[in-house]
Amino acid sequence: MDRQAAKSARLVGPQGHDPKFQARVTELLKAGVKGDRAIARKLHCHYFQVAVARALTGQMAGAGNMIGYFKGWVAKNHLLAEARSARERAYAPYSRFLVGAAVATDAGVFTGGNVENASYSVTICAERVAAASAVAAGARRLDVMAVTSSSPTPTPPCGACRQFLYEFNPEMLVVSAGRSGDLRQWRLSAILADAFGREDLEEGS
Ligand SMILES: [Zn+2]
Repeated sequence: MDRQAAKSARLVGPQGHDPKFQARVTELLKAGVKGDRAIARKLHCHYFQVAVARALTGQMAGAGNMIGYFKGWVAKNHLLAEARSARERAYAPYSRFLVGAAVATDAGVFTGGNVENASYSVTICAERVAAASAVAAGARRLDVMAVTSSSPTPTPPCGACRQFLYEFNPEMLVVSAGRSGDLRQWRLSAILADAFGREDLEEGS
């Protein structure tokens, strides 16, 4: 679809041209990306809007779920864009394996890149840099962690990061994007089985 066709298509809802429909879609998009207009504009694609339109007009089963799904999709993409931006600031002169992370928390979004060191073992992963930045700013609940790396395939968090993140929400959603555009996601509790957490210390005291 060329740009002009896309522009006119986005004004056509299930009942034809409908400014109210367009306004509602725009409102949903803005809510999903927390007012980031640049990203909202990018997401004004035909297929996305038709699907939202069907959900809004009840033409699709589970319309409420569908709107929630699209809001989640928009938020996830926003977070991944932040992670990509953070990857550009990663410090990895030894491995040249750049990683960026962005975490959505109860205190906003925080980012980080991996930070390597000449003494290799003290290197810190991007996920932990982002999480520590969030906690230092007052966040206590980490909801979604987005990660991007130099790899063409989505990379999962390492074992140390899984343990570190578990402290701030065992059910955290981790979303990872490869450079080829592939996406994978996990619940933290599913990739860190029988984890040691705060409750274990409480039981022992
Ligand atoms: Zn790690």
